[in-house]
Formats: sequence, structure tokens, C-alpha cells
Amino acid sequence: MRPNALTPLFASMQSLSGIGPRLILLLKKCVNLPAGVSEPRVLDLLWHLPTGVIDRRAEPKVAEAVPGSIATLKVRVLKHKAPPRGKSRAPYKVLTEDDSGRLELVFFHAERKFIERQLPIGEERYVSGRVESYADHLQMSHPDYIVAPEARDDLPLLEPVYPLTAGLSGKVVQKATRQAVDLLPDFAEWEETAWLKARGWPNFTDALKRLHKPVDAGDVSPGGPPWQRLAYDELLAGQLALALVRQSFKSRPGRVVKGDGRIRAAIADALPFALTGSQRTAMLEIEADMNAPRRMLRLLQGDVGSGKTVVALLAMAIAVECGAQAAFMAPTEVLARQHLETIAPLAEKANLRIGLLTGREKGKIRQDLLARLAAGEIDILIGTHALFQADVIFKDLAFAVIDEQHRFGVHQRLSLQSKGNGSGTDVLVMTATPIPRTLVMTHYGDLDVSRLSEKPPGRKPIVTRKIPTDAIEKLIERLRVQLAEGAQIYWVCPLIESSEKSELAAAEERHAHLSQIFGKENVGLLHGAMADKAKDAAMEAFAQGQLKILVATTVIEVGVNVPNANIMVIEHAERFGLAQLHQLRGRVGRGTRESFCMLLYKAPLGETARQRLQMMEDSEDGFLIAEKDLELRGGGEVLGARQSGMPEFRMAGVANFEELLAAARDDARLVLTNDPKLAGPRGEALRTLLYLFDCDEAVRLFRAA
Ligand code: ADP
Ligand code: MG
Repeated sequence: MRPNALTPLFASMQSLSGIGPRLILLLKKCVNLPAGVSEPRVLDLLWHLPTGVIDRRAEPKVAEAVPGSIATLKVRVLKHKAPPRGKSRAPYKVLTEDDSGRLELVFFHAERKFIERQLPIGEERYVSGRVESYADHLQMSHPDYIVAPEARDDLPLLEPVYPLTAGLSGKVVQKATRQAVDLLPDFAEWEETAWLKARGWPNFTDALKRLHKPVDAGDVSPGGPPWQRLAYDELLAGQLALALVRQSFKSRPGRVVKGDGRIRAAIADALPFALTGSQRTAMLEIEADMNAPRRMLRLLQGDVGSGKTVVALLAMAIAVECGAQAAFMAPTEVLARQHLETIAPLAEKANLRIGLLTGREKGKIRQDLLARLAAGEIDILIGTHALFQADVIFKDLAFAVIDEQHRFGVHQRLSLQSKGNGSGTDVLVMTATPIPRTLVMTHYGDLDVSRLSEKPPGRKPIVTRKIPTDAIEKLIERLRVQLAEGAQIYWVCPLIESSEKSELAAAEERHAHLSQIFGKENVGLLHGAMADKAKDAAMEAFAQGQLKILVATTVIEVGVNVPNANIMVIEHAERFGLAQLHQLRGRVGRGTRESFCMLLYKAPLGETARQRLQMMEDSEDGFLIAEKDLELRGGGEVLGARQSGMPEFRMAGVANFEELLAAARDDARLVLTNDPKLAGPRGEALRTLLYLFDCDEAVRLFRAA
């Protein structure tokens, strides 16, 4: 059970005074909620970290205030100068002074009553804001703070600056966050004292206090002790959770899954190609895992187009050879269908019975399917997360493949496993995101890894070019030539921050534009808000070659296979993560035509952005690109985390990420070696840590075990 001390932190954010339903909606937009949490909690506000501070500590006399700087001034109110009648656009001015000089406070569109209340004539007030010189005098327009001398403590001399959204003011966030900080109890320390001392790190509660109520400008910085401490806590929580999942996974017995090879042989006969060396190696590794009497948990990493699907199919065949079933789960419906289409002809030749289950299979079709599944009349079930539904019961599930795992959470992985009949389902996780080694560690823990490092033979290089958006007309002329030669084009519309509607609008606009140039009948549109039928129809028309150009939002990101498509145009490429660009690019270069990837960007590019796009021009090696991305962006923000669905870090941006990660990994191992049940005093404290970073799924494993 969650320790009682944590209860106020897990209460809804609405429990804070001043936060009501309207603000919750705004806060939801800008705080970062972990997977599965829909109602923002006090805790989520604590993790909403400032990006910097406004320093209001300068308290000069009026005469000494430096124009252009932020200052806090103690002044006496002399008189109010309301705008003349009929001139409501003129500002409302309030003249103030101290014994050194005069300062005019200026308010535009002001509410007179409000100002009169805030600045009564004859009284003293602290005002804080930017001092400006105007004509021959000093002024401050719209002071950020106006407080009476007795309320001086309400004025933050170092004011944290928070990420905001339209309609949400920094003051509101500050006020709520200060309350949240005051709810923090003193926790029993979970980090080792010697380690904290060596690093000069504060305790957890103090670290959060210093981030939200900074006393030193360096407090709010990824290199500062509070940030470092919390980043380490987060990494340790993650490493510990993963180690616990793995420990529980491995501690339960697995089964020996050994096939006679007949189905694999039939599939191999039906394949129009021979396996690559790395496909063969991966198969041997998987086979050895399945043969062994323990649970398999293996990550198959392979760049887009490296041929993971065939490996998955052959591995599933092993399960079927020994009379059991296999499941193949894809992150999207489009992709599940595509897997079905790839697999179906091979399966038919090998006498495999396959089924499809997505959110769209309903009613009688679904019931029939489930009945056949339970009776063991389906060998391989392909689908989406619909496979997790409670009434999906296998007769004997021995093997599960999870494609593009980063879209699923750890608990979903565990839940698919539980669909086996108790004897332990082997799991193969596949990812096309070429995650650097250090990050495999963070996101997947200590699991076994097979890599498809070799591409199937005969692939032509994809010529990649970055092009400023201004040159779009020229690009269109070149595309015209290509289209005349039979090319097909994906046109990916930009990612627009935090507003799906405008993302759609941008795609629709581009679709209309290209339709005008290339003809309505040649240009299709694909986006997330479309009905499933319409999506399929558009994909199908493009695959069949009826559509020459497919304008899409990023829905095509994952795994779509149209070999004839040879040109990928990506708008606002600078907004995408490198891994995502790489994955999008992998949609082309699958056929015999020379392929191109055009990265449109809005000039001017910053240096990092330029280097990132240059990397795309220079390399097609996903692993190399990922390493470079890590280097350019730092660990917390790798892989366009938000866009690719990878778990994000609360404490992003630490430069010494890898060093901290390595330490956290070692620490987690040591902890579990000494105290596998987290039952000792440090173990107890660590459980609290797991809750604080929403890794409680791992804590629950103790009860399951
Ligand atoms: P991934 O899922 O890793 O992106 P796929 O499994 O979809 O890649 O494979 C991409 C394409 O390469 C498919 O058309 C597949 O048939 C083909 N392919 C897979 N393995 C080989 C191979 N060894 N030789 C030639 N083509 C292959
Ligand atoms: Mg694939």
C-alpha cells in the first residue's frame, strides 16, 4: 500500500486552494502526466519544473535604478492620474516616490477600482518589475508585484519561471506550487548518506523546495545540486523498477518451447529471399531462449526495413510447431493489418491459421474469433492492444511478439504475459527505434538484446537533402519530373506543438495546395482524425498506385510498406526527433527506384538543428543517428520522446546523464542483491521513491509474487 505520508501528494490538484475545474484544464495542457494518469495530482505540479528564475533581488533607491533592469522598489504613492475623459486608450498613471526620486507606474486598459485598491494614496508599497526610462523620467509599466510592506514575504525575490499555456499565468502556477511544496513531508532518506555527501546534494524535500522557491539563481539549473539529486532519484527509481520487473519475470518458471522445424522450413521455402546473417543470428538467439526452461524477454532491435517481421514470424512458428499459440501485437491498427497482409501468404503456404483482432472486430465476427482462439483453432493472433482485453483467452499462448514496444507500457507487457496459461509466455519485444545502448538500459532494463545490424541485400541508398521552405516551388518542379517517371510520394505535414487541430488544418491545406498542382485524383490525405474506413481506403489507393501523392500527418510513422513509394517529403523537419525522421525516411527505399528524402525546414536553423539535419544527410545508419541525437540533445530528451511515445523524464536535460545512469544502475543492482524484497529500512524508503516517480507497478509485483 502507498505510504500514508504520500496521500496529500496524490490528491487531485484541485485540492490546492485557487485551483478549480477551469484551471485544471489549463494545467493539464502543460504539466507532464505519466501514462495512465488522467487527473492531474499535486505531485504532477511538483514535477512541473521552472525553466529559470527572475531575479528581483536588486532593491535600489529610485534614483539609482538601472533602466531596462528588473528591480524591487519601495515607494510612497503620491497621486493617481486617470486618463482624460473620452480617451480611454491613454494609460492610467500613478505617481510614486522615495526620498531619492520619482517613479511613474503605468497601466494600460486598467481597471480603475483595482488600481485604487492596490495603490492607496499616501501609503507605501513594494513594486517589482522592469524599470524603464521614458521621456525624462523613470517608469514601470504593469509592475509584476505590488505588495504592502507587511506582505513583503509574498514577493519572491527569486521568482521561478514556469512553462505556461495560453490563459494560465505564472503567478497562479507559482501560488499552487508553493502550496504543493508545503505539503511535502520529510521522507526517510533512500539515497546513501556517503553518496549524498560526496555530491553535496540536499535531501529530496529540500531539493524540490529549492527548485520551486529558489534562494540562489543556480538552484534552478540542471547542473545545480537540487536538480542533480532529483535526476538521480528518478534514474534510480527507473532502474530499480526495471530490475524488479525483471527479477519477478525471471523468478517464475518458463517453459521449454521446442519445435521440429517443419513450419519454419515451409515458411523459408515460401520466402522469395534468403535470411541475412543478422536475421539468422537473431533466430538462433531466440530459439535458444525458447528452448530453455526460463522465460524469454528479448528485445529485437532493427532499423526500419531490416526485416524484423520475418524473424517474428519464424519465431512464432516455433511455438506453433510445438502445438501452442502465438500473439503478435502492433501499436496501431494500420500496422496490425499490414502485418497480417505480409504474413498471410506465407502462413497459408505453411498451413498456419491466423486471425486478426483490433478494436474494429466486433459482434459476431469477434465472438467467432474468440471462440476459435479459445479452442486452439487459431495459431497466430495478430492485433492491437485489443489483445489485452480480458475476454481474449488463448488455449495455450506460448509466445508473444510486441512490435514497437515503446508505445506500450511495462504493465501492458506484463498483462499480455498473463494471458499464457501460467507456464510462462516468452516475450519478444521489437523496436525500430535504434535506441543507443545506454538508453536500452533506461527504457527496457537489463534485458537480452538481438540486433539486426545488416539490411537485406539490394537496398539502394536514399538520397537525403535539407531544403529551406522558401524553395518549395523548386522542389515541386522536381517532383513533377519524378512523378512523370512513375514516382510515388509521401508528404508528411509538420508536427504542430500542442494542437492537433492545427496539425490537421496544415495537412488539409497542403493537400488542397498539391491537389491544385497535381490534380485532385492524384493526391490523397491521411490523418489521425479520419474514420478507419477512410484511412484504409487512402492507404490502399496509395499502395495500388492510384494515388501518386499521400499527404499525411505523422500517422504513417510506423511501419507502412509501399515499395513503389520512393520520395519522402517532410515539412518542418527541424521539429522532429532524429529517430522519427529516420523512421519516416525508412518508408521509402523499399523498391527498385532511386529514393529521396527531402527535409524541408524553416530558415534560419540554429546550430544544433543544422547539425541534426546534416546528420540525416550524412548517414542512414539508425544506430549512429541515435547516438548523435543523444549527444546533441542530452539524455533526457532523446529520440523526440514526446513524439515517439517513449517515456519522458521528469528531470530532463542533465548533461551528465550517462554518468548518473550508470551509477543508478549499479546502485539498483546492489540494493536488490542485498535486499531483494525491499524490506530493510533503506528498502522501505526506496518503495516511497518508487511511488514518487510513479513506478508503483513494480512495487505491486511483490504482492503478485
Ligand atoms: P522491419 O519490420 O524491420 O521494418 P520488414 O520486416 O517489414 O522490416 O522487412 C522489410 C522488407 O524487407 C519486407 O518487404 C521484407 O519482405 C523484406 N525482407 C526481409 N528480410 C529480407 C531478406 N533477408 N532479404 C531480402 N528481403 C528481405
Ligand atoms: Mg516492421
